[in-house]
Order: sequence, then C-alpha cells, then structure tokens
Amino acid sequence: AYSSVGLHLDPERITGVLLDLAGGVRLRSHRRVPAGATPSAVVGGLTRTFHQLVRRSGVDTARVLGVGLAVPGPLDAAHRAVLEPPNLDGWPDVALADVLEERAGIPVVMDNDAAAAAIGERWAGGAERAGSFVYVYLGSGVGIGVVLGDQVHRGVSNNAGEIGHVHSGGGRACHCGRRGCLEAYCSTRAIVAAWRDAGAMPKGESVADAYDELCRRAADGDTAAVRVLRQAATRLGQSLASVVSVLDVDRVVLGGPALRHVAELVRDRVAKVVRDQVWASRVRPVHVQTALIGEDAGAVGAASLVLDHTYSPR
Ligand code: BGC
Ligand code: ZN
Repeated sequence: AYSSVGLHLDPERITGVLLDLAGGVRLRSHRRVPAGATPSAVVGGLTRTFHQLVRRSGVDTARVLGVGLAVPGPLDAAHRAVLEPPNLDGWPDVALADVLEERAGIPVVMDNDAAAAAIGERWAGGAERAGSFVYVYLGSGVGIGVVLGDQVHRGVSNNAGEIGHVHSGGGRACHCGRRGCLEAYCSTRAIVAAWRDAGAMPKGESVADAYDELCRRAADGDTAAVRVLRQAATRLGQSLASVVSVLDVDRVVLGGPALRHVAELVRDRVAKVVRDQVWASRVRPVHVQTALIGEDAGAVGAASLVLDHTYSPR
C-alpha cells in the first residue's frame, strides 16, 4: 500500500507520522531538538526520523509518495525556504525543503505548520470540516490556517495566517523583536512564564515539560494553573473574534499540542469571548470546536500535504 510521511519541525522537537492513504496514522515518532541546534543537525534529525518510520512500517520506500514538512514561518515558498524564523532561534534563511529532499532522497513539500494542520483537519474531517473555518494551531507558537470554501487561503506570499505576531493590546516583548504580539501571551513559553510569575515552580526544566505539568494541574482543577490558562485563552478569544468578524466565518477549530489535557477548558473560554465580542453574531452564530487531530496536528497535516499535492496538484 502507498503511504505518506509527515514531519513537523517544532522548536523543541521533531514529530513524524506515517499515514496510510485513508489518512489514518500508522506510526508516529518523536525526537527532541536540543536548544540551539544548527540547521544541519536538524536536517539530520528529520532525515533519521523519516528513515526510521519507513523502516519500522515495513513499507517499500518506493511506495512512499513523499514527505510533507511543516515548519514555523515566515516562509519563502518560491525558494522552499524558512526566513530567519523567530521560533528557530538564531537560524538564518535556510532552503529547508531542498536540503531535506537531497538528504532523504525523496520529494519534499513544505508548508507553514498551521496551514498544514488546517489541511490535515480538512482531510480528517470530511463533511464535518467542509466549507469555511479558521483553524488555530497552538503550540510553541500560535498561527492560523484559514480555510475558505474548502481551500486554504495562502495569501500573495504564502504567509497568510500569522496571527501570532499581530498586536494584541499589551506591551510584552515577543521573541520576534516586536512588542504586544499575541504569541507573547499565548505560546506555551509565555504561558509557562506567566505561571512562574504567579509563583509556580514547575519541576520540568524544558518549556515543554513545564507546560505539560501546568496542563495536568489545570485539568485537576488547580486554581492558579486554570487562571493562567484562562487569561491566555481570553486574549486568544479576543484576537479570534477579530478574525471571525473580518472573514465572516462561522467556525473556529482549536488544535495543536498546547491543548493536551486542557482542550475543553480553553475551548469554553475562547467560545465565550468570541461569542461576546464578535460582530453580527445575530445572523452568524459562531461555533468554537476542538480539532479532530490533536497533538500531532502539524505532522499529520504535513503528511496530508503530500496527499493534497498528489490528488489535487497545482
Ligand atoms: C510562526 C507561525 C507558526 C506559528 C505556530 C509562529 O511563531 O510565525 O508561522 O505557524 O508560530 O508554530
Ligand atoms: Zn512576535
């Protein structure tokens, strides 16, 4: 049977999945990215993840249709490159898709992680995800994929959906160099920082571990943890209300690894804020839902990109 592989490069880890053609996840694998990893070390990690998945699956490499690579932006789609992405600390411009294609010896399609996850959600969702919706990727960064009339809206430079670096009304410094970005309040790193400021002392050293601990506590009803998450969700809801009002869509889908253990909590808060703030809600009620693909959204989305390119080539 044919398969496709999806790789998601997150600042802290590489997630890989192997999908069958029905879109089902057959295998997954995770690998940590050490802080300050160079592009060539990361390409090595991506290549190894790819080979490992194929080997473990027993699928003949010739039957792997391709690799989808999901990365945080900004991107230069024409040059298949990432452009000094703030989430990959200290990286220059890197023609990541071409480099990986050469190293792994297989065709690579690359896209923004949030756009890829939105496509994955569209593939996974069938009728439930037909039409128009805004998909929100929550993780080390925050981005959206805008699906209008069944098509991902990419924009003139393929960089649509960068809501993480849109001003959200505060003055907190963002790692992109600006102030007040939504991501300075809603990324996992920002939420962990707010939790520490409130006096918490997480055991985990890495942001991912500390964030996981925070979410487990929140799921158990810990007041401080819940408060910190609700504050972030409030800001997110405010920004999403603007997006919904501008685009006139009636569905917001929340996904990504940051929702692990706390999807309902975040969804309920976002839904309330959106309901309160969105324009014209009388004629267009807005539904806020949790995604069908959760934690591995970026990687599953990336693998769906391959299917998308195979079956509806542009
Ligand atoms: C990046 C986006 C990305 C998002 C989620 C943001 O910092 O600018 O391109 O989609 O993080 O990873
Ligand atoms: Zn920013």
